Amino acid sequence: MLLDYHLHTPRCGHATGEMEAYLLQAQRAGLDEIGFSDHDPPYFLPEAARYPGIGMTETELPEYVAEVMQLAQRHPELPVRLGLEADYVAGQEERLAALLAPYPWDYVIGSVHFVNGWDLTDERFLERYAATSALSLSESYFFDVQGLARSGLFQIAGHFDVVDKFFCGHTQLAREVAIAALEELRKAGMAIEINSSGLRYPKASPFPARWLVQEAITRHIPFVLGSDAHAPHRVGAQLHRIAAWLQSLGVTSVLRFHNREASPVPLG
Ligand SMILES: [Zn+2]
Ligand SMILES: [Zn+2]
Repeated sequence: MLLDYHLHTPRCGHATGEMEAYLLQAQRAGLDEIGFSDHDPPYFLPEAARYPGIGMTETELPEYVAEVMQLAQRHPELPVRLGLEADYVAGQEERLAALLAPYPWDYVIGSVHFVNGWDLTDERFLERYAATSALSLSESYFFDVQGLARSGLFQIAGHFDVVDKFFCGHTQLAREVAIAALEELRKAGMAIEINSSGLRYPKASPFPARWLVQEAITRHIPFVLGSDAHAPHRVGAQLHRIAAWLQSLGVTSVLRFHNREASPVPLG
């Protein structure tokens, strides 16, 4: 089976296309199941510090949930799961728990985007990226991923080595801290997302890179597939290729989620 669990919607302010169009593309791409996982409202920033395109507002969150559930009802031919890509920010765990509590998530993807107060996945901040010590940035990033794993708030770790999105080699610099983060994910019983969007960036590999996928396989950490689509034509992008690549590494199943419970399905 092929599943795409990382789909955004225009509510986040930096994605385009109707949710219906994402679903139709999933059917065209031959996917067996999809999950929307739009960005959470930036609960960790005061209103005044929020900038355009950072994410939906708190009042949009219930509308997003309702829209995903309505879409699922309209299309019984393709299972549609309710997910969220939620920011992990150290010290803000209780606020996130309160934000998540009212809704029947099938899964929550935990992602670290903000390190030292700015989003290292946003190309608008490339100058800050280049001006920061690569070693300290990557260590801070992977320390936060350890906190993400220990928080107990998430089922899936999103784009595990996204600190390499624009500049390759950060993860290798922080190799020990990155491995420690993998260990924390294993202890937490979490899955790792294989995110095909990394193929479009200089590293030209999924997030995470092959050596980390192999480290995860050694630790029996399960995988989830995601395209990180911010437009309908990206839904399912490269997932057939990723499935074949994972199979060549000996992976035979991926996880699907319902009510935050995982079950394995055969890959491909
Ligand atoms: Zn996004
Ligand atoms: Zn993300």
